[in-house]
Amino acid sequence: MSRIRTTNTTPELRVRALLRDIGVSVQRYAGKLPGRPDIVLQRHRTVLFIHGCFWHGHSCAKGRPPATNVQFWTKKITANKVRDRRVNRQLRAAGWRVITIWGCAFRHEGSLIKRLRRLLG
Ligand SMILES: [Zn+2]
Repeated sequence: MSRIRTTNTTPELRVRALLRDIGVSVQRYAGKLPGRPDIVLQRHRTVLFIHGCFWHGHSCAKGRPPATNVQFWTKKITANKVRDRRVNRQLRAAGWRVITIWGCAFRHEGSLIKRLRRLLG
C-alpha cells in the first residue's frame, strides 16, 4: 500500500505523487494543448494547472498585490487572469475538464487529496 509522501518538492511533482497515491496513472502527454497544462490525464480527459496564488491573482491572502507598484502588478496579474480564462475556455471547448490547483491548497493537503479523489475517482 502506498503512503502519502511528505517530502519537500515542487508543487507539480507533489501533485503527481498525490495522484499516484490515489491510483491515478500520470503519463506523459506528447500533444500540444493551450496554456501548456502542468499535468494532462488523457484517460480522464482532464488537465491540471498548478497556479501560484500571487501570479494568477487568487482570491486568498497570498493573491494580493504588493503595496508598492500597485498599478504595475495589478496590470500584470490581470493579464495573467485574462489569459487563464481564455485558456480554460479553449480547453473546455475541446472537451477537456480543467482543474486548477492553487498554491495555497498545499497547506491543506488532506482537502486537496479529497478533492482530487472526488474529481478523478
Ligand atoms: Zn491562494
